[in-house]
Amino acid sequence: MPPIGRTALFLLAFVIASLAVRDDTLMANGVPVVGPAIGVALLWLASSANWWLDGTLLLATSAVFGAVLQDDPWLALLGPVGLLAVFATVLGLRRWAPEMWGGGGREPMGTLAQFALLLLLAAVSSLVFVSARAALGVLLVDGESWAQLPLRISRSFTSIVALGTVGLLVGGRLAQHADRGAPLVRVTPTRVLELVGVAIMSAAIFVVGFVQHPAVPTTFMLGLAAVWVAVRFSPPTTSIVTVAMGIVALALSMNGHGPIAVIEDPAEQAVMTQVFLLALLVIGMAVSLTRRQLFETITRLQRSEDRLSHRAAELNLMLDHLNDGVAIVEEGGRIVHANPALGRLLSGPGERFQGLDRIRPAATYRLFHPDGRPLTDEEMPYLRALRGETVIDEEYHLRAPTLPAGRVLSISAVALPTEPGQPARSMATVRDVTAESEHRDALADFAGTVAHDLNNPLSVASGWAESLEEAFRSSDQVPATTGAPMVSHIQAATERMREFISDLLAHTVARDQALQCERVPLRNVVKDLEDTRLGPGSSRQEVETGELPDVWADRALVLQLLDNLIGNAFKYVAPGTVPRVQVLAEESDGWATVRVCDNGIGIPEDQRQRIFETFHRAGRKGYDGHGLGLAICKRIVERHGGRIWVTGNPEGQGSCFTFTLPTTAEALAAATARRES
Ligand code: ADP
Repeated sequence: MPPIGRTALFLLAFVIASLAVRDDTLMANGVPVVGPAIGVALLWLASSANWWLDGTLLLATSAVFGAVLQDDPWLALLGPVGLLAVFATVLGLRRWAPEMWGGGGREPMGTLAQFALLLLLAAVSSLVFVSARAALGVLLVDGESWAQLPLRISRSFTSIVALGTVGLLVGGRLAQHADRGAPLVRVTPTRVLELVGVAIMSAAIFVVGFVQHPAVPTTFMLGLAAVWVAVRFSPPTTSIVTVAMGIVALALSMNGHGPIAVIEDPAEQAVMTQVFLLALLVIGMAVSLTRRQLFETITRLQRSEDRLSHRAAELNLMLDHLNDGVAIVEEGGRIVHANPALGRLLSGPGERFQGLDRIRPAATYRLFHPDGRPLTDEEMPYLRALRGETVIDEEYHLRAPTLPAGRVLSISAVALPTEPGQPARSMATVRDVTAESEHRDALADFAGTVAHDLNNPLSVASGWAESLEEAFRSSDQVPATTGAPMVSHIQAATERMREFISDLLAHTVARDQALQCERVPLRNVVKDLEDTRLGPGSSRQEVETGELPDVWADRALVLQLLDNLIGNAFKYVAPGTVPRVQVLAEESDGWATVRVCDNGIGIPEDQRQRIFETFHRAGRKGYDGHGLGLAICKRIVERHGGRIWVTGNPEGQGSCFTFTLPTTAEALAAATARRES
């Protein structure tokens, strides 16, 4: 509705409400018993978006009404002064209940505190402004007296509270409907039946208590009807029904029926009926709003309980799927929670760890310090955390018969915040760091070997350089027979260093560089190698090749692989033996199996696995090398999804290195996927 239309409607309602109470039956000692105009004024202002317009119109109408219709110019002043109680009430609501509809917000009155605020504001403002009006009235208007004051205050208070409560509740409900589409009323057959029941009960009480037996105190039973409505219906419905009951009681009393009608003074009688109406309203609202608040609290609690249990389920799921073990342990040793990973980490392959309900003696866990000492009960990380220590990433070794290589576990533990009245708790987390620890050890070995292998030739070169310097110092001329061997020693040492550095580089490339796979004919690779290794004019019979397939691989790496293997085959031969190398291959199911066999010195059985490790040499004196070539080969083959191993040469003396490589892109992709999963 446009604002101006709303203003016009309220203006009309205000005039009608003011005129309606001029009837003689509604007057007591010259004062109207009911004040609907006051209630209308309250709603007008409470819902106003334009206080200046609405407020001025309201005061002006009240002034005109008093001066013109009641034929007394002073009333133009008195009416507006009384109405200031309404202004004060609405201002109070805006100040102390701004979220509420009527106080400037959009929420319906929903708490007992808000209802109490309305009662308080109505009481104080009625007392102040109606008294001011009375004082002016006594001074200025003939026939006005202090005797009218209690009725006027009570009428103002009752009107503001009764119409205010109904109006604020209904207005809020309408606002909610407009904002969020909340239903205006919920009509169900049972609810309609119940309302009819309330109406019948109230009608019966009115007939019996007000008309038939006014001397018998049965009217209090209207309170029961008010409670019934309040317990079963919403606050707006409760306010409407209880105010309606109060109005019926008031109408009956004014017409001489009921217990209040026996009071002779009409003003006293009017005040009593107003008190009766208010009592019904207060009972209804107290029950209804308390019930609503309880309901809201329960709903809120239920929602947060649902949310919490949902979160707990999520967390449990997360814990169950963690690869790290997690346990929450209570003082005394009860394990409150342990995830499946913990059991897996504490047991060897094929075992099932049992003690996840409570902490067992330390020996059960088969954990050892890195120096080999077994973990004692007192040293258990959960216990140390309970004692206030924070255990961070400490390494322990798990030794089990089914785990010959052992397992390295990193354990942390921390005390959890204690809940009042509950035993102290700590949380321990366990992580498998075997691979990391192996990697770390390998890295340390690697660094040690690199330092040693670089240092060696360096000290040789610097030793010979020193000797050469010495020779120069002692004589101006060093004969070529002395100097030349020294220089060639220095050259040999630097050459060894150069080779070692280039091997290291090749090792890194084989490990890290992205594969650039293509169709690589092995035949051509071997031929190129033969040409470079043997040089033109050498006897070709030393490398014998069979039918060699194409492979799907990184060309540069395949070249390096075969170069290392053929190079070793030439290198590791007994002195005086003419090296003979055979490169043979067969193909099936997308894979080529290639064998490089030689007539060399062979490899002892117990060394056949270890020679593929970085820097491992089979201890052959008289053969140069750094122990990196086969590690590079292994890396290259494995990066292509294949395998490499060595056996003795079935044809007699020497060794046979066998490796597999994919011959199609699909085989390579399938092997890589298998490895990654
Ligand atoms: P390097 O040759 O630099 O020592 P490799 O990794 O190529 O390093 O080889 C590791 C060890 O394996 C060598 O020290 C050697 O003892 C052994 N080996 C490699 N190839 C052969 C071969 N064809 N015949 C005999 N022993 C070999």
